[in-house]
Amino acid sequence: MEFSSKLLEKAVDEMSQLPGVGKRTALRLVLHLLGQPKENTLQLAEALSTMRNDIKFCKNCNNISDTDLCEICSNPNRVEDVICVVEDIRDVMAIENTSSFKGLYHVLGGKISPMDGVGPNDLNIEPLVQKAREGKIKELIFALGSTMEGDTTNFYIYKQIQEFNITTSTIARGISVGNELEYTDEITLGRSIINRIPFETSLKS
Ligand SMILES: [Zn+2]
Repeated sequence: MEFSSKLLEKAVDEMSQLPGVGKRTALRLVLHLLGQPKENTLQLAEALSTMRNDIKFCKNCNNISDTDLCEICSNPNRVEDVICVVEDIRDVMAIENTSSFKGLYHVLGGKISPMDGVGPNDLNIEPLVQKAREGKIKELIFALGSTMEGDTTNFYIYKQIQEFNITTSTIARGISVGNELEYTDEITLGRSIINRIPFETSLKS
């Protein structure tokens, strides 16, 4: 792609780093931004920059938050010792939308995936095991989706906490959360949380 402007080229290059955005789409988006009133484009740039600079990760559950302790963890009405293990904030949002879960979350930040070079130490697993060790968990609910990576991650965590006196359960198999929520309606997801099954049972199926 030949550009008559280096500034334009730079913007297109940056935009095309986004997932699913090729050079042509990037050019279309950049030209769109250029056609907008200047303040609109600057507002977008500022929102991105402020988000990147100021965003925090909850020190209890690792969810994306504006404060040190996220709104869910700081809500006194949530059940502290029932913890739902999820991959990322999309899962938290999906489950929160069902209004079927009153416990807290633990956000791993990914799934174990040897193919992608992601091992247990790359994820936020140790703080969860630490909580288990300290007796702060009564029930752990796995909600990682039933991909091979999800299963591997569930099983790894299960092994780590097996020695502690914790009830483990999983949402119904075949239910996808977060990223794949478009395939699952809220009622189905909500029902699968309420009717969660013992983790050991899921291993046998
Ligand atoms: Zn939190």
